[in-house]
Amino acid sequence: MCFFDQHRFVCGDWKWGHFRQHCNREYRIGETCGMKLIMTTVPVGQKCKLCEKIDTKLRRRTAEVERVNRWQREGSKFRASIDKSMDQIRALDAEIYELQCEKNRRLQGIGSGSH
Ligand SMILES: [Zn+2]
Repeated sequence: MCFFDQHRFVCGDWKWGHFRQHCNREYRIGETCGMKLIMTTVPVGQKCKLCEKIDTKLRRRTAEVERVNRWQREGSKFRASIDKSMDQIRALDAEIYELQCEKNRRLQGIGSGSH
């Protein structure tokens, strides 16, 4: 069991940081034994990359929805713009879904302890 820092993001996700210390099991020079333990938890003052990407896309989605709502109040003259926006929203939904799946996969990968 070798010791590593843990970087913890404000969204609750985390990743392994720097290697800190070998355990007393045999290991070849420059290698760790493969089992990772947390030495210190380093708080990171921001969300992880994936959560930031998801947030950005959610903000864009909200903006699109607001635009559509505004156009719909104007009656039928923005029909084409609304259709385009609706396509945009569907595309964003798919991208957000993909990112969420990636995030879940990553969390499960870390949780299982296999590296
Ligand atoms: Zn995150």
